[in-house]
Amino acid sequence: EELINLYNDAYKSIVGGKHPWALGEPASSVWREIWDQVGPRAASAMLSNEGTYDEALLLIMERHGYAEETYYTFSYSPVPNDQGGTGGIICANTDDTQRIIGERQLALLRELAARASDARTVDDACARSSEGLSANPSDLPFAMIYLADRETSQATLAGTTGIDPSHPAAPATMSLHGDAMWPVAEALATQEAVLIEDLGAKFGDLPTGAWERPPHQAVAVPIAPSGMSGRAGVLIVGLNPYRIYDASYSRFVELIASQLAASIGNAQAYEDERSRAEALAQLDRAKTAFFSNVSHEFRTPLTLMLGPLEDVLVKTDDQLDAENRDLLTVVHRNGQRLLKLVNTLLEFSRIEAGRVQAVYEPTELGAYTAELASIFRAAIEKAGMRLVIDTPAVGEPVFVDRDMWEKIVLNLVSNAFKYTLDGEIAVSLQREDRHAVLTVRDTGTGIPEDELPKLFNRFHRVEGARGRTHEGTGIGLALVQELARLHGGVVSVESEVGKGSAFHVTIPLGVAHLPADRIGGVKALASTNVVARAYVDEAMRWLPDASTDATPQVEVPTYGVTSRETTRRKIILADDNADMRDYVRRLLSSTYDVIAVGDGAEALREAIAEKPDLVLTDVMMPVLDGFGLLRELRANPETSSIPVLMLSARAGEEARVEGLEAGA
Ligand code: ADP
Repeated sequence: EELINLYNDAYKSIVGGKHPWALGEPASSVWREIWDQVGPRAASAMLSNEGTYDEALLLIMERHGYAEETYYTFSYSPVPNDQGGTGGIICANTDDTQRIIGERQLALLRELAARASDARTVDDACARSSEGLSANPSDLPFAMIYLADRETSQATLAGTTGIDPSHPAAPATMSLHGDAMWPVAEALATQEAVLIEDLGAKFGDLPTGAWERPPHQAVAVPIAPSGMSGRAGVLIVGLNPYRIYDASYSRFVELIASQLAASIGNAQAYEDERSRAEALAQLDRAKTAFFSNVSHEFRTPLTLMLGPLEDVLVKTDDQLDAENRDLLTVVHRNGQRLLKLVNTLLEFSRIEAGRVQAVYEPTELGAYTAELASIFRAAIEKAGMRLVIDTPAVGEPVFVDRDMWEKIVLNLVSNAFKYTLDGEIAVSLQREDRHAVLTVRDTGTGIPEDELPKLFNRFHRVEGARGRTHEGTGIGLALVQELARLHGGVVSVESEVGKGSAFHVTIPLGVAHLPADRIGGVKALASTNVVARAYVDEAMRWLPDASTDATPQVEVPTYGVTSRETTRRKIILADDNADMRDYVRRLLSSTYDVIAVGDGAEALREAIAEKPDLVLTDVMMPVLDGFGLLRELRANPETSSIPVLMLSARAGEEARVEGLEAGA
């Protein structure tokens, strides 16, 4: 009747520190602290002959001299006596404490990861983590996340669970120097967890979480910063009053801290990335604005120079002598070139800034394209190449902005001409399903495969590409791409080095892809204008004998150089820019015999044939550049002693040393 306890060895871990005293003691005294729970169950077995069964029942036991949270699955079964009544109870017992605690800890870690993983800011990561921590008020009766700020030497409250942020134990900030309420500085400095005992004496009434009594211990665990710039922090957790803070408990709290570190680190990486992207976008906007402003600033004075210049150039021969006319023609031509460049830059930045207003007009695109391409015929044929135009009717009007389409065609054909030294340039416009496809194909120098993906980036140029000239800014193709995009189209390229390239511009037919308010009515084909002339004039200047055609020969005064020589000395002058070539020739030709050529290879041939007294050469030239020419001259015994003077815009000390070392 007293329920004297008799038990096997395995049961010793259940009675814990009460063994061996408990052996032979009445159950009500062994289980004094939980008798209100188990007493009625024993009574049921003893008095009503009815067994009981409980699964994972929470029992606060004192097995080791302190009140402890435990979970047991157990049954009380009546044992019959000889008189047909109940003589005792047999109790089968399983300790579930570790399983239950392990499961809820795992669940918390899972919850924490799930909640905070897509946080986009550090604050958000802390807030979401705090919510996640509330899933386990048993092991975390209350918790606070503090983030450290190195600059202010303060820790700032970034999230709470189970405790109100206005609670005196949850200060909004704590100093990382002096005596703070919680040992945040110590945890940060040592990167070790710091246990705080005797909370009751320090804080009075603290939140109790899942229990009816507040934690008497807390722990401050460092949250490690991720990377060099990451934010460090400290997690402060009130501990379960019914558990010992042992290795398993501390491992759990440390796991939480590392999960927090990961979430904060991720959010920070995201924040950093976003601000980097934002900074880049801002830089890009600034660049666009800068180009736009600068282009404007260039355009005004250029226009003011070109206008009066044109007025002078139309004067009659008795008002303007031939020599001055020639000089001014050079100025005019280069002014036009500069203007074209500035206009392209301006146009490009206006497109980028979304300030371009296209007007899409129904156009007989085959005929228009043929007309545009044929503007280059003279230049192409003069270079000994063929221009093939194949633009059958598309079958319906194509909606394009005429000025933009003009620039697309002119840019592509002018590039084909620039980068093709012999063979053929073919321009075609074909219908493919619901698209019109412009193809400009050449038999030129081709483009290396690894350059193709970058080709349409603004200012990208292929290093060392063989062409008629080195002139260029790398903006043409970027502009073509933007213009094609404004037509809902795309541009693509295929190319093989040494064989040639083909550029395709594909734009949709119809109007469905265009903004309705920008569609214009039928207009007559605009005859091509000033823009086209600028392109062709420029192309003409890339031809080797451009000067003789474009600028009549003039004798120029000696500019202070007086010749005392009886026999005139011979100079070979190599420069790919025809105007520069003419200008220098003019300066020298009253005193010297000047043989002017357009590239290094030609200069080399002339040097071997003519044995000049001096070679005067540009550095950057197509086919063979200045340094290549110098090398060849020095390597050949017949020419190795000819003095070489290099002219370059690269006026630095380094360039000078490089030239001298190469034997200039
Ligand atoms: P630019 O001609 O002013 O350098 P682009 O944007 O028009 O600028 O062209 C970019 C680069 O692409 C050129 O520097 C050149 O190397 C290459 N490229 C363009 N068109 C051709 C072509 N038809 N054949 C070979 N290379 C080309």
